[in-house]
Amino acid sequence: MSHLVQPRLVNGPFDDPALYVDFRFGRRALLFDLGDVSALSPREILRVGQVFVSHMHMDHFAGFDRLLRLFLYQDRTLRLVGPPGLCAAVAGKLSAYTWNLLGPDSAGFAIVAEEWTPQGFVGAARFAARAAFAREAAAPPPLAPGLLAEDAEFVVEGAALDHGVPSLAFALQERRRVNVHKPRLDALGLPVGAWLTEAKRALRGGAAPDTPVALPDGHAVTLGRLVEAGVLVHGPGQRVVYATDLAGHARNRDRLVALARGADRLYIEAPFLEADAALAAARRHLTAAEAGAVARAAGVATAVPFHFSSRYAGREEALRAEFARHWQTAASPGR
Ligand SMILES: [Zn+2]
Ligand SMILES: [Zn+2]
Repeated sequence: MSHLVQPRLVNGPFDDPALYVDFRFGRRALLFDLGDVSALSPREILRVGQVFVSHMHMDHFAGFDRLLRLFLYQDRTLRLVGPPGLCAAVAGKLSAYTWNLLGPDSAGFAIVAEEWTPQGFVGAARFAARAAFAREAAAPPPLAPGLLAEDAEFVVEGAALDHGVPSLAFALQERRRVNVHKPRLDALGLPVGAWLTEAKRALRGGAAPDTPVALPDGHAVTLGRLVEAGVLVHGPGQRVVYATDLAGHARNRDRLVALARGADRLYIEAPFLEADAALAAARRHLTAAEAGAVARAAGVATAVPFHFSSRYAGREEALRAEFARHWQTAASPGR
């Protein structure tokens, strides 16, 4: 069954991280972290509507300028979500440039920054091109605690981890996966087309079985009928988790395991070898062994280690091997 989103790390494991989450439909994308995004094309970047920033260490936030440069003349609002301090960080970035050419006639571009904690949002600010990016007060979004974003097709859940400063981990949960069974569609003599895309979208968004679906020939069926006939096949949505920059202590581990439980894909930092555990602890990062143990405890289907320390340049395989050993020992060898 194909997925609603296709996530991919923008760079190799030694580069400043960013996870690009592309939607297969609807020309839109999300970004988890804002490290080096220079490998993304302008077209890919302009699909992004929401950016989730783990924390504002430079390797996770320096990509802000490239987004700003590309969005500046767009009539769009870009949403940034991150830990407390994000609004000030965005204001600081914007204050680095001269904006005398912006004014009431400028494009309608605006940045909305929202500061998230597990108890809820604690601050928000808006920066509009037409106001030369002066900081304006904004209302935080009315989302349930634990949620960073909500949409007809997905939610983003979060956890605040300790990295000396709060570092946010994110879980994108598709509401539902929907696919078309082409042979059954053909058997019923139904064509593909916009009506089918619409029906899939409705089912993915949790529409009721008696929701009418207009066929190209003018007739209508219900969504439930298409499911009963096996034309539309649906199942639980994909869960994609992104976690980086966290100390290896038990509290972090428990929080992350809870967030990543049963995930289809876990992207997890593995910066240091266990042999350098003292260094990892001092920098408040995981070792590859600790990262593998988290992936195992959470029972994830696929785990992708990243954010390798440059001290291991040329020794990437040592980090990968240590991670794999701790992920796949015990319960399910060979998975
Ligand atoms: Zn950091
Ligand atoms: Zn980092």
